[in-house]
Amino acid sequence: MLAAYLCGPKDMRLKETAIPDINGNEMLMKVKSAAICGTDIRMYSNGYNGVSEDTPLILGHELAGVIDKVGANIKAYKPGMRVAVAPNMGCGVCDMCVGGNTQLCPDYRALGINLDGGFAEYVRIPEDACRQGNVIELADNVSFDEAALNEPLSCVYNGFLKCDIKPGDNVLIIGTGPIGIMHAKLAKMAGAAKVMLNDLSAERLEVCRKIDHSFILLSSDNLKGQVMNLTGGKGLDVCITACPSPQAQSDSLEMMAINGRVNFFGGLPAGREIVPINTNLVHYRQLILTGSARSSLSQFRKTLGFISSGVLTVKDLVSERFTIENIAEGIQRASRAQGIKNIIHFD
Ligand SMILES: [Zn+2]
Ligand SMILES: [Zn+2]
Repeated sequence: MLAAYLCGPKDMRLKETAIPDINGNEMLMKVKSAAICGTDIRMYSNGYNGVSEDTPLILGHELAGVIDKVGANIKAYKPGMRVAVAPNMGCGVCDMCVGGNTQLCPDYRALGINLDGGFAEYVRIPEDACRQGNVIELADNVSFDEAALNEPLSCVYNGFLKCDIKPGDNVLIIGTGPIGIMHAKLAKMAGAAKVMLNDLSAERLEVCRKIDHSFILLSSDNLKGQVMNLTGGKGLDVCITACPSPQAQSDSLEMMAINGRVNFFGGLPAGREIVPINTNLVHYRQLILTGSARSSLSQFRKTLGFISSGVLTVKDLVSERFTIENIAEGIQRASRAQGIKNIIHFD
């Protein structure tokens, strides 16, 4: 099979390699769609812990496909099933795993992060993923591309739940990559009065306008003034930072209304994570600061339901599709933040 191996920083190699063997407790999936994510770009650009020429890794943690082979001991799945795969798995016995949060397990492992992922024609689904319910059959009306995009959507949904968006709330999302746009879609779905989006790039804001005309697009020029105007001087009920900017995190607090909720969704680059914030704003305005990372399996299933029921669409986030032979072009495009979601497909 053809697979794209990360061998070190900025070193991805397309190789012909053997289709993975599976044991009686594992499955083999033929990949149909694998979306390129900001995490893949960071791993590609900076290299990743333990990844080298001798120990290369196949990236791709946003994936969907068709079950090709099923281990003899597995009863719940059959070859030919169209499935989405949640990438994160846990040990199964720690408090986090037992509480339904395998993605927060101290021994967490994930396809495309520390196990071979979806930028290959086939992927081995490990025993833990088969047992823990990471593999979910797709409704007929959900495409493989949509199923792949459900992974980031589920992570966004995890952050969204922390913010408790109520009908009529005023919401600002800072950063209009795919994550920011997904946050905006969920905020609108939850009945937000105003869904505002801010980005340094006018080009990216223009992309958001095409996604939904009701989104309010704000430049970074006097952002606080614009927000105060739009909210009658009250400020934001919810602000989500979907960008790796320390400044955005500290600025967000200045724009909050009383009882506002903030989610620091985007992580910050190493060495820049100490951010001065005005804690009196948190105190006097009774703000709630939250963080979120990854998503649980139940959140993954919930958002897959949003897609299949049609209450939320992710189709419009697919910008360009590449074959595995052209993955370098897809990675370059994503590195330059071109398009919204770039997908590797195996049609
Ligand atoms: Zn991702
Ligand atoms: Zn665990």
